[in-house]
This record gives sequence, structure tokens and C-alpha cells, in this order.
Amino acid sequence: MEILTNTTPVEVAANAEMLKYNGHYGEFGGAYVPPVLQKSLDKLANFFDSEVRKEAFQKEFINYLKTFVGRPSPLFLAQRLSNYVGSTIYLKREDLNHTGSHKINNTIGQILLAKRMGAKEVIAETGAGQHGVATATAAALLGIPCKVFMGKIDAERQALNVRRMRLLGAEVITTTMGTATLKDAVDAALGYYIENPESYYLLGSHVGPHPYPRMVGYFQSVIGTEARSQILKAEGRLPQSIFACVGGGSNAIGLFSGFLDDVEVTINGAEGGGLAIEGNTAATLSFGKPAVFQGTYSYCLVDKDNNPMESHSVAAGLDYPGVSPQHAQLRDTRRANYFPVSDSEAIDAYKLLSRLEGITPAIESSHAVALAIKMLRDKGELAIVNLSGRGDKDVERDM
Ligand SMILES: *Cc1c(COP(=O)(O)O)cnc(C)c1O
Repeated sequence: MEILTNTTPVEVAANAEMLKYNGHYGEFGGAYVPPVLQKSLDKLANFFDSEVRKEAFQKEFINYLKTFVGRPSPLFLAQRLSNYVGSTIYLKREDLNHTGSHKINNTIGQILLAKRMGAKEVIAETGAGQHGVATATAAALLGIPCKVFMGKIDAERQALNVRRMRLLGAEVITTTMGTATLKDAVDAALGYYIENPESYYLLGSHVGPHPYPRMVGYFQSVIGTEARSQILKAEGRLPQSIFACVGGGSNAIGLFSGFLDDVEVTINGAEGGGLAIEGNTAATLSFGKPAVFQGTYSYCLVDKDNNPMESHSVAAGLDYPGVSPQHAQLRDTRRANYFPVSDSEAIDAYKLLSRLEGITPAIESSHAVALAIKMLRDKGELAIVNLSGRGDKDVERDM
């Protein structure tokens, strides 16, 4: 990408470079699924490949991002935070997107695919309900019936999001399997998908079997292309470091994708540390091991018998024992660094940013803010922090 001048408007565009990844990220990635599912995934992979390069598809995707989501999202110079930390910190404002987070970038892209495939319904899993709401929103936009699978415990904890999904016309199906949380919702949705292969399974993060990481990474890369040209426009140079929180890894890969080839940019991921000790954490890349989990080979939190373990984080969106296979590769090749951020560090950053800037970040995004504060102290660096979502949903809890 060339250096942009001050008069160039910021384009809303995904990064075509992301299409070079074909399901494998070094030794990570792939598709570990039963043969019936493999057939559906092959069909989806081929369909995505043929559609994504068509001008008509690109036009529709970009148009919805501009007029429905509200892109490009601003890059905001957080002056009071910068003064407080002693570095120049810009926030990429994904919190200003329609429905309040980056998740809508992906659901819009995939719902367009679903429509073009002629899918009669879309199905999705959700933990805290944010991906469920983003999917129900996109499904309502295009008039496609929508079923959202959710653990019963999560549905009780997130009653407001269940109401939002129903208001948007989605059917919410709760499961009592396992611990009745996100991992079980994924299993329930996969089970339904195997029996109803004509449905479109709309996966919400940079995880799962190929082609999901490829598709989600591409749709979210719009964050990085915008951020890169915005910082060049504002500062005339690239940042020294960038920060994002990592749950499954979709908002992070979205931002990172714009800077992977810029070796002078240091890339940092903030994981949900929980209590930041083994056994009480969601920091998969910090505490996990390579394993096959929910259709892909990547890092996973496992017990001593190598079985997937329950994760713990104050942030529902980070509370997942798996992670994106591309982040696994970026970790092992040391192109990116990943750090556990504890619950209490994230809560402090959540409060601090609210007071310093008048922006209440999602508790997930607060992990990235906390890591940036810690690493940028008195460094005089230029940095970008991805504010993946807004924190209105978290205010109800007394943190
Ligand atoms: C879901 C969510 C996350 C975590 O998901 P990723 O796929 O890791 O981005 C982070 N922030 C917000 C606001 C979320 O809603």
C-alpha cells in the first residue's frame, strides 16, 4: 500500500492479501470434521472463492458496511489517555459500529454469501449473545430466518440479548448439554447443521474448520486496511505498535492484517487472563497447547489428559478455550506477541478510559487498553489500540 496524502478519503475495503490463506497457517488450521460436514464445507469454500472476487458481491458488501454499519469507523486520538500514559495512542473505534462491535463486519459478509447461496435459514452459536445479536440483525436486514443456539446458563445470564435476538425475529434455542455455555452451543449448532446441511452456518470468530478462518479474516480485515490508511493520513507514518484483545481472534486479525508485512510494527494481542494462572484463565496462547478443537488445529486450553478445559475470564467474549489458527502461527513465528491480561487489570482500564476519554469500552476491549497502558508507559511511542466494542452491555454488572 502506498502512503496516502492528507486529501485522500479513507476507503472502506477488505484486504485482498487475506485471500492468499487457504485454510492452512503453517502447521495450524485445516478442517477436522466428519465427512458429512466436509461436503458442506467444501461447497462453502468453493462458493466463497467464486463470489468474493465478483464486483457485484464487493459492491454490496461495501455498501452495507458504509450505509448500515457506518464504516469507516473513526481512528480517534485519545489525547488524555496519551498524556496519562506517555505515548501517542489512537483508538480504532469499532465500538461505533451498528450493534456496538466489530462482529457485524463478519455477519454482513457471511449473510450476503448465505443469500447468494439461496440458504433458507441461517444458524449461529453465541456465548454472551453478541454474535447472536449481530447475526439476527444481519438476517433481519436480508429477511432470512435465523436460529441462534445458546447454552441455557448463558441465556439466563444474558437475558437482555436473548430478548434483543427475539425482537429481531430470531429463534433462540437453548441447550443444557455440558456446562450449557458457548462450547456446548457450538456443539449443538454443529449437530443441527449436520442434520440440516441446507442451512447456512454463520460462525462468529476466526476459529473452526476451513473455510471459516479464511472468510472471517477477510471480512474483518476491513479494520486493518482502514486503520493503516487513517494513521498514515493523521501522522504521516506507521505506528510502532498495535494492540487488540484476542478471544477467538477475529477483531485482532482484522487489525493485525493491515500491518503483517510492516515488520517495523510490533503486534500485541491481549488474552483474557482471568486470574492469570493455569486453570483459571482464558489465555489460550499463553497457557494452552496445540490440539484439535472444534474442527481446527490450533492452541487450546487442555487438562493433563489433553482434553479441552473450561476457560475463565471476566469478559464473556474472551471466555473460550480455543483460538484462531493464524494467531497460533503468528505466536510460534514470533510475528506477534500475546500476553494474558488479568480480570482486574481489564476492569481498571475499563474505568480509566471511561473517565479519561468519555468512552466506555467493552470489557473485552478493555484488555487491549490495559495491555497498551502497561507496555507504552513513558515510551513516547505511536500506537493503535483496537476498541472492538462498546461497554454499555457491561455497565449492569458492578465492576
Ligand atoms: C466477541 C467479542 C470479542 C472477542 O471475539 P474476537 O473474535 O476475539 O474478536 C472482543 N470484543 C468484543 C467487543 C466482542 O463482542
